[in-house]
Amino acid sequence: MEKLEDLLVWFREWAPLHLAEDWDNVGLLIGDPGRSIEKVTTCLTVTPEVVQEAIDHKTDLLLTHHPLPFSPLKKITAETVVGKMVCQLIENKVAVYSAHTAFDSASSGLNDQLARRLGLKEIVPLIPVETEATRRNGEIKETGSSSAGVGRLGVLTQSVTAQEFIDRVKEALSLSTMKFSGGLEQKIHRVGVGCGSAGTFLKEAIRNECDLFVTGEASFHTLLEGKAAGLSLLLTGHYSSERFAMESLATELQKKFPTLEIWASRNERDPVLWV
Ligand SMILES: [Zn+2]
Repeated sequence: MEKLEDLLVWFREWAPLHLAEDWDNVGLLIGDPGRSIEKVTTCLTVTPEVVQEAIDHKTDLLLTHHPLPFSPLKKITAETVVGKMVCQLIENKVAVYSAHTAFDSASSGLNDQLARRLGLKEIVPLIPVETEATRRNGEIKETGSSSAGVGRLGVLTQSVTAQEFIDRVKEALSLSTMKFSGGLEQKIHRVGVGCGSAGTFLKEAIRNECDLFVTGEASFHTLLEGKAAGLSLLLTGHYSSERFAMESLATELQKKFPTLEIWASRNERDPVLWV
């Protein structure tokens, strides 16, 4: 048995909360950090299926990527989907902790893991984070001098065609289909990465002269903007670009806290069917 706070202290070192975006809602969102815990479930998103799993298996903590609640709540009743889940979690003493964009941007966080999984080398953040020191001095650190930051940028040791790179990504993420915009015979060397829905980083990928940008999902207009700038885009699906990291988080946590029972949610599924 461990105190919830002990696990959170360790995880906050991995994903420091000051790395989170201003709009985000991160940290301990439901629960008492002083409670003792025995079981932890990691997941990408808290859904009714994940809540049911947590209740059935008496999980003490849901370590989730996407925050719940995310938007401010003025009332918590079972009349809304979010309200019902929050009620059920509190009634069953299930805590919720979300690091979200802090985990995305951490030096060994989600984007770093995704870039490594895709075989990229010389990995640096697409947008390096301002350290506390540079923030105080009003200076921005130079690109690549910090290992924490938004998105990632890396290179392939040997250039390949877009088609060859797509095949690699399919294997790395166990996917049979993805969306692609660009030329399949185009040579790929410099690759930008942004997990989830990272179309907003497109300008940074173009500015950094990437040949290809990999993200989970992006809009039609983002694809057109990329194409006009000569940047190919590869869309893996939001779920596939992030879920693997919650599985490896469960494995890492289990090594660090061997007395706890820790697993990645078995009820969680991609809500998108690729038909
Ligand atoms: Zn996401």
